[in-house]
Amino acid sequence: MGSFKEIHLGLTRKTAVDDARTFLERERALKGSACALGTDHLAVLRLLVKKDLTGAFEKLVDANPFAAVTGRLCAEPYAETQVFNRQSERISVRAIERFLADHVKVKAPTALARSKQKVAIIGSGPSGLMAAWELSKKGYRVTVFDQARMAGGSLAYGWPEFLLPFEVMEQVVRFFTERGIVLELNTIFGRNITLAGLKDAGFKAIVLATGVGVSTPLGISGECAGGVMGAVDLLRAWRESRFGVDAMNTFLPVGKKVIVAGGGLAGLHAARICVRLGREVLVVLSGSDADMKADAWLVREAAEEGIKFKTFMRPEKIQEDASGCFKALVCRPVDYRVDKEGRLSVVADDETELAFEGDTLIVAAENEANTLFYHTQPGLTFKEDGSLVLKADSTSTELRGVFAAGAVAVPSIGLLETILSGKKAAADADHYLSA
Ligand SMILES: Cc1cc2nc3c(=O)[nH]c(=O)nc-3n(C[C@H](O)[C@H](O)[C@H](O)COP(=O)(O)OP(=O)(O)OC[C@H]3O[C@@H](n4cnc5c(N)ncnc54)[C@H](O)[C@@H]3O)c2cc1C
Repeated sequence: MGSFKEIHLGLTRKTAVDDARTFLERERALKGSACALGTDHLAVLRLLVKKDLTGAFEKLVDANPFAAVTGRLCAEPYAETQVFNRQSERISVRAIERFLADHVKVKAPTALARSKQKVAIIGSGPSGLMAAWELSKKGYRVTVFDQARMAGGSLAYGWPEFLLPFEVMEQVVRFFTERGIVLELNTIFGRNITLAGLKDAGFKAIVLATGVGVSTPLGISGECAGGVMGAVDLLRAWRESRFGVDAMNTFLPVGKKVIVAGGGLAGLHAARICVRLGREVLVVLSGSDADMKADAWLVREAAEEGIKFKTFMRPEKIQEDASGCFKALVCRPVDYRVDKEGRLSVVADDETELAFEGDTLIVAAENEANTLFYHTQPGLTFKEDGSLVLKADSTSTELRGVFAAGAVAVPSIGLLETILSGKKAAADADHYLSA
């Protein structure tokens, strides 16, 4: 079995402080775009150089309580600087962020003073928690509800522990609860709680941040065969296995030869778990590997770990064996063509079919919102792309006092935009409540 230990190690205290000092001596500003979350990185570095680690940490997490996550995974242009340290390595502001988030423990954080109205957040993913933090800082009494048994949404289960250790995410969640945000887990919106019930319970505004945690099917024949599973389901099962449930063998047994269909991030993460479990893994893509939704470094690491990629193959159908289990993914080769007018189109080779055999198929096309429980909430509608209908230039839904954040508001957004959308929903809710 391969290692599930975190791949990328963080900075030591000495390197973090030295790098911060070197950076401040050589540069007076961060090049590239400013931090989208509003972190004043120069102020953070100055405090770190003065060895005021707690001050630097507090300054950092006030703007970005997900520093332990973005410090590992955020690929913003400003994060890697043009300044080199004494070891001739590029100084990384991201790595310094991570150092502070990993190493500074605030002993008794004070819960924020709260006197304003009660606000409910549905969903404890990055957008929901960010909305909770922003509202909490403004004095609202915030409760975050989630159907899952652990908080964090996709951050808790969607990134494998070799990229984002589970304990790190648990620590991030503690940051919010220690500062007075109430978490109510194992609570399904639409079943255990409803919009009407929350209003009756005195919640004056509600932010829906339920994400897109359902794997979208490929839409080809044979997807009900045994051994065919969504990438998101596999990631959840893997995370559940850490609670003592052998979900990977009990609910989602993964065979020896795994085919992953699609270039979604969840699929790539699932592929990397499978290869560590000793499985042979082939990722089949309908475009090139550059068309994958993952950052290039994630794809490169997956290839180095032994995952094979087959590009320009469009899935056509699934072949089953006599017992109704997955046998092969049948694909047609595709290619890009440029016509005389210079227009680009995708052309399939109708003469050729290729079958990729295996015993497990992981479907990793897209993710979509679970709209099942929303149907019990009158007044909310979904667009064709699966996102909630919102008012123009606003995070407000069609219902007064009900806002939406994260992937359920804007599908296919990356981590940083997700966190930002939580901030925006909190600002809109505050505006509504203060009117
Ligand atoms: C598996 C996966 C892997 C990803 N990998 C990457 C990556 O590598 N890089 C990247 O940039 N982005 C990645 N993303 C996308 C990115 O993180 C998204 O922007 C993010 O998932 C959206 O966050 P969110 O807060 O909107 O929702 P989520 O993080 O999905 O959180 C939604 C929360 O709502 C809860 N919920 C849902 N329905 C209900 C209900 N009815 N009642 C109560 N609670 C409910 C869920 O349990 C969940 O905790 C990934 C997403 C997923 C799903």
